[in-house]
Amino acid sequence: MAILVTGGAGYIGSHTVAELLAHQEEVVVVDNLTTGHRKSVLGGTFYQGDIRDRDFLDDLFRKHQIEAVIHFAASSLVGESVQIPLSYYENNLVASHVLISAMLDHGVKKIVFSSTAAVYGEPERVPIREEDRAEPANPYGETKLAMEKMFRWADEAHGLKSISLRYFNAAGAHPDGLIGEDHHPETHLIPIILQVALGQREEIRIFGDDYPTEDGTCIRDYIHVMDLASAHFLALEHLRQHGQSDVFNLGNGTGFSVREVIETARRVTGQRIPERVVSKRAGDPAVLIASSDKAKRILNWKPRYHQLETIMESAWNWHKNHPDGYGDR
Ligand code: UDP
Repeated sequence: MAILVTGGAGYIGSHTVAELLAHQEEVVVVDNLTTGHRKSVLGGTFYQGDIRDRDFLDDLFRKHQIEAVIHFAASSLVGESVQIPLSYYENNLVASHVLISAMLDHGVKKIVFSSTAAVYGEPERVPIREEDRAEPANPYGETKLAMEKMFRWADEAHGLKSISLRYFNAAGAHPDGLIGEDHHPETHLIPIILQVALGQREEIRIFGDDYPTEDGTCIRDYIHVMDLASAHFLALEHLRQHGQSDVFNLGNGTGFSVREVIETARRVTGQRIPERVVSKRAGDPAVLIASSDKAKRILNWKPRYHQLETIMESAWNWHKNHPDGYGDR
């Protein structure tokens, strides 16, 4: 039986496909390629299609014996979600509704779901635990939390078993150097810093330096994309063995400020990387750090790339060798 990966041509999706293939899983990938890259899918059977298209999904579930779904397909930019909230409800919540309706009709009852730290909003304490208050501060977080809840009610009513993985800041690239991060436009801190190192941008703009942190810049928990990928495989195994729905944070448990990230990039790349402080970005909490004790305890998750240095090196290896990413935009 196969694992269906929606959004498998995206950043975290493509690394998870690589992880599944390394475990000899049979993989079917669906991506509409709006933001994904065909070249990032290293194996399995690929379909270009949209999960909002029920006929397309019915065909797919008829063609392949699907055991479980790993669901990445979504819009995922906080700032954009504030500008076009309805499109986030459509791409995230409505699309997931179509997907799980099709799954249930075809008797598929296991889903691993890509959720986010954005479900918490301004945290009530750090490190953040799964039981802490979830009060999203933007439509992106709202739609992901609504999806989590929809899955939970679908479990109550129809026995759909789901594991929601709430990621903190995904970073880095596959150690083989074949796949990595390539967004258009790029909004994430580490790739933007590395574009400055490559001379593709003049400077890194620091969004605010008067936060209540040691150096005044925001603190985030950066987690290597391959560690996220391994957590998806473990979540799948957990559903196979225990079959209980659950939710897990995925982070390193260590926070780094924007300035520390820039300093690390200077050390790793040997480049100067000019910086300039600009005004704050709306909706950025000062500190986001995960407690991932639950994932370590229950999923037996063992993140391998703890050091920010190591994460940065793998990202640099990708960006240096692929200055134009996949070159398809
Ligand atoms: N950030 C920044 N300059 C940039 C991009 C991001 O100072 O050009 C900061 C941002 O305010 C946040 C951190 O870097 O505190 C990580 O931002 P990113 O967009 O990578 O991830 P997010 O935390 O929004 O998921």
